Amino acid sequence: MELLLEGKSVSESIKNRIQERIKELTKMPKVAVLTLNPDEANLAYINKIEKNCSKYKIGFELKITKTEREFINELNKAKQNDEITGIMCQQPLPKSLFDEINTIPLEKDIEGITHESLGKVFVGEKNVNIPCTSKAVIETLDFYNIDLTGKNVVVVGRSNIVGKPLIPQLLAKNATVTVCHSKTQNIESILQMADVIIMAIGKAKFLKKEMIKKDAILIDVGINFENGKICGDIDFEDVKEKAYAVTPVPGGIGVVTNAVLIENIIKKFWLFWKNVV
Ligand code: NAP
Repeated sequence: MELLLEGKSVSESIKNRIQERIKELTKMPKVAVLTLNPDEANLAYINKIEKNCSKYKIGFELKITKTEREFINELNKAKQNDEITGIMCQQPLPKSLFDEINTIPLEKDIEGITHESLGKVFVGEKNVNIPCTSKAVIETLDFYNIDLTGKNVVVVGRSNIVGKPLIPQLLAKNATVTVCHSKTQNIESILQMADVIIMAIGKAKFLKKEMIKKDAILIDVGINFENGKICGDIDFEDVKEKAYAVTPVPGGIGVVTNAVLIENIIKKFWLFWKNVV
C-alpha cells in the first residue's frame, strides 16, 4: 500500500472551512436530534455529535421518544420552531416514519435525507445538503487528490444515504460508475475491473485481495463489530499489500462524516442567513 487514506487530516481541512464560515455568523444554529427508543450505541453516537456541536457553540436539543406518535409530535414541533435551524433523525427508524421525515423543510434538512434534497443532489444543484457519509467519501478522494476522470468506480451498496447519493457525485467527477447490491451476479468479476471500490454494505471484512486488481483504491464506509472490535467491509490486513490506497476503520470515513455533518449544519444556516436559499 502506497497511501493510507486516514480521515483525521481530511476532517481537519473541513474544520478549517467551518471556522471560516462561523466567523461570518452573527447568530449560531441550533439542532434538534430526534430518536425513537435509542440503544446504547445510538446514544454514544449522539453524545459525540453533541460534543462536536458544543465545540462550535452550535445549539443542541435531544428528543428521546418512546412511540411513533411522540416522535411525530416532536418532529412537527422542531419543524415549526424558528429557533431550530436543523433537524436530525437518528437512524434506524421504522419505515412507517419515512413519509413524516420526508416533510422536513429543505432549509432544516441537515442530513440531506428528504426526497427534495436528494432530487437536488441528483441534478447537481448547488447549495443543498448532501447526505453526510456519501459526501465524506468525496471529501476524502478530493483531499488525497485522487482524480476520478475516466476511472471505473464500483460502489457496493445502494442505500439512500450512501450508495445512491454517491452516483451523481462520482459522475460529476467524470467517473464511470457501477453500483452493486445483494442481487448483483458475478460481483467478483465486476470488482476486479475497478480502479476505485467504495464498500458500503455492513458486512465485516467482505472485500478480500482476490476480489481486487493490483493498485486499486479502496474506500471503506462499513462499520461492523467482530469479536467486540470495530472493523469495516474491507479486510484491511488482507488487501493492504495489493491495494494502492485504503481508508482504515476506525479512523477513516467515519471521522470525516462527523465533520461533514457539522459543516452541513453551518452551511445550510449560513446560506439561509445570507438569503441564498
Ligand atoms: P443499508 O441501508 O443496510 O444498505 C446496505 C446495502 O448493501 C444494500 O444496498 C444491500 O443490497 C447491500 N448489500 C448487503 N449485502 C451485500 C452483499 N453481500 N453484496 C453486495 N451488496 C450487499 O446500509 P447503509 O446504511 O448504507 O450502511 C452501510 C454500511 O455503512 C454499514 O456498515 C453502516 O454501519 C455503515 N455506515 C457508516 C457511516 C460512517 O459514517 N462511516 C455512516 C452510515 C453508514 P440490497 O439493496 O440489495 O439489499
